[in-house]
Amino acid sequence: MFYERVIFVVSMTNSKKDYQKILASVQKPVIGEAGKTGTWSKLKPIIDLGKCIPVKSGKPSCFNCWLFCPEAVITRTIPPRIDLEYCKGCGICMEECPVKAIKMVEEKSK
Ligand code: SF4
Ligand code: SF4
Repeated sequence: MFYERVIFVVSMTNSKKDYQKILASVQKPVIGEAGKTGTWSKLKPIIDLGKCIPVKSGKPSCFNCWLFCPEAVITRTIPPRIDLEYCKGCGICMEECPVKAIKMVEEKSK
């Protein structure tokens, strides 16, 4: 349902800035609402900070990973941090990162 609203919002706006502003106001779940989802998956995201836009620029920009994470486990900080205790390994953050700074790895390979 959240993503249906996202598609609707994006279709109603023309710029990324507009839709980020609107999406930021969409209600999201809080950390831990679905329990310790970190136990659900064998895949976990890793951020390559050398590619991450806010880390490289030193400015609070992008944060698509924070915006789209359905578990709200990524911080809107420089650098962004992921709470793996509650990350369910869905890979949405990887899909939404514009510079491919996030990759999903097997739990064992971390
Ligand atoms: S894989 Fe990424 S988007 Fe999915 S829950 Fe974990 S941090 Fe959030
Ligand atoms: S989406 Fe990618 S570039 Fe943007 S803040 Fe997250 S990791 Fe960095």
